[in-house]
Amino acid sequence: MNIIVCIKQVPDTTEVRINPETNTLVREGVASIINPFDLYALEEGVRLREARGGKVTVISMGPPQVEAALRETIALGADEAVLLCDRAFAGADTWATSYTLARAISRLEHFDLVICGKQAIDGDTAQVGPGIATLLDIPQAACVRKIIEISGEAIRLERMVEEGYEVLEGRLPMLITVVKDINQPRLPSLKGKLKAKKAEIPVWGADALEADPERLGLKGSATQVVRIFSPPARGGGELFTGEAAEAAAGLIAALRKAGVVSAGPGSSS
Ligand code: FAD
Repeated sequence: MNIIVCIKQVPDTTEVRINPETNTLVREGVASIINPFDLYALEEGVRLREARGGKVTVISMGPPQVEAALRETIALGADEAVLLCDRAFAGADTWATSYTLARAISRLEHFDLVICGKQAIDGDTAQVGPGIATLLDIPQAACVRKIIEISGEAIRLERMVEEGYEVLEGRLPMLITVVKDINQPRLPSLKGKLKAKKAEIPVWGADALEADPERLGLKGSATQVVRIFSPPARGGGELFTGEAAEAAAGLIAALRKAGVVSAGPGSSS
């Protein structure tokens, strides 16, 4: 089974700072990690390979320092990794990112399953997985929490929805995005670390992808960040304490005073 896992390197913090002049992330002085959801994607890929044979190839689009993250994925069990790095990819929105990753996937040999994380903890859009599937014209399932069975080309899985979970059946090749419930990622092995040290990580640029230059990076981005800002801190609210009935009465009175709810039957106000 040939599995492709997409990973993104993200800042090791959820307190992302923004440069107000350039509207881009301030990356200086912030350590980078593999997007946490992508570690679950990788673990699932490695488990499937261990059970069914085949190969796990990891791809990531990003600056040269992403090579370190790709080496880490080899220490964690991936067979191969490819870095997509080119100035032409810079400034990509989620659509251009999806296009670049989809081009790379279609340049790799036959694949059965593409696994992404549910979302990246910095961009947080959860659009890239579905974007890749759309561009590759393959079925997709987001927020998968369990692969129940794979039999030939048929795949059966559980995906999380607000009220619980759904059981879906699909056909390979397919793309899934995964949530943390799917597995418990392993730690790197010593053998894996040695393999990672020696691994060759090819770097593919726009030419290697035979991509349409108009669809890459800033040029290929249909959306533009006009302004990014942190919302001002909210002023202190009012806390209603005491017994439940007393607290509820205080809250209702305050809501009436603010005109949020109208005076109910039996109300003196
Ligand atoms: P999500 O869609 O939340 O990620 C889901 C999954 O997709 C991840 O778990 C991972 O498996 C996979 N994935 C996501 N990104 C990658 C990747 N790079 N490589 C491999 N796998 C990946 N960034 C800039 O640096 N400069 C810009 O000018 C810029 N402009 C932007 C404009 C807009 C309107 C938006 C929405 C974003 C912009 N970004 C920019 C951010 C950039 O588009 C995102 O970092 C990128 O597209 C991934 O989106 P995300 O972080 O929301 O990932």
